[in-house]
Amino acid sequence: MIIVMKPTATDEEIQKVVQKVEQNGLQTNLSKGAEVTIVGVIGDKKKIANLEMNMMPGVDKTVRITEKYKLVSRNFHPQDTIVDVKGVKVGGKQIVVMAGPCSVESEEQLDEAAAAVKASGATFLRGGAFKPRTSPYDFQGLAEKGLKMMRRAGDKYDLRVVTEIVDKDDIDLVGEYADVFQVGARNMQNFQLLKALGKQQKPVLLKRGLAATISEWLNAAEYIMAGGNENVILCERGIRTYETFTRNTLDLSAVAAVKELSHLPIIVDPSHGTGRWQMVRPMARAAVAAGCDGLIIEVHPHPEVALSDGDQSLTPKNFGRLMAELGKIAAVMERTL
Ligand code: PEP
Ligand code: MN
Repeated sequence: MIIVMKPTATDEEIQKVVQKVEQNGLQTNLSKGAEVTIVGVIGDKKKIANLEMNMMPGVDKTVRITEKYKLVSRNFHPQDTIVDVKGVKVGGKQIVVMAGPCSVESEEQLDEAAAAVKASGATFLRGGAFKPRTSPYDFQGLAEKGLKMMRRAGDKYDLRVVTEIVDKDDIDLVGEYADVFQVGARNMQNFQLLKALGKQQKPVLLKRGLAATISEWLNAAEYIMAGGNENVILCERGIRTYETFTRNTLDLSAVAAVKELSHLPIIVDPSHGTGRWQMVRPMARAAVAAGCDGLIIEVHPHPEVALSDGDQSLTPKNFGRLMAELGKIAAVMERTL
């Protein structure tokens, strides 16, 4: 349930409402907007049903929320959330671009990729050191060695570092080097990992599961927020459909859906979303036009020899072209790049 306060409600009236809710054994979540304040109520359904708030001074109305997720919901928090990653804001006016190789392969490969994506205007370096591969015989990543390379390249080129975490026991290790924890599609419902990431404050990039509904995805984000970490960025990366030409079907309608349902920033991954480098530029352009807050794009200095996802990786030259195109579309959307 949410309690919508009148625009004229005083701080004292808001405080009394919060007190009454908490005295009934429920939790509150306060969202102060420019116009109105909303008191979100979380807890036992029966207790909420028995709560009588409409007659309290300053209360405009109460609204029942049918979705299971609460903290993630725009009903609870009407204003857009901006996640600050060491000064780079995700969810604000600027469209952020995270770019780099699928996997960290070597010092030289990463340095070349980082230099190129920085020169074209990316603000984040992406690259996996722990790779969740479909086959156990495929390249599994360089682990801590790869994390160290990511940090070094990130610091050298002033790029924020986003990298995948696959195991809750690695939070301290990955957190030592990363600015953002990436939760991959295959781990979207790894609830132990989500709970553990909720107990710390570093931002989390939560990718949509391969076959997850938008509701399941938002509930996964709720796991992180329920632990106390509000720094969640959602990422649409394509879902499995009957289509086989593309690796996945990029669901750009999810951008509009998430904007309606949630206040969290959402970025789009057209690389995994299509699996084909030829389609990355068109889909990235469409994603910005659809209203996303950012993109995560695979860029490899030599895609033909990439140890993973070469088929969907842009060359630095094509990435540069894309960034020039995105600048124009961003301007139409009254955003910056
Ligand atoms: C990746 O970003 O390289 C990756 C493995 O993505 P996903 O989890 O979306 O498949
Ligand atoms: Mn990849």
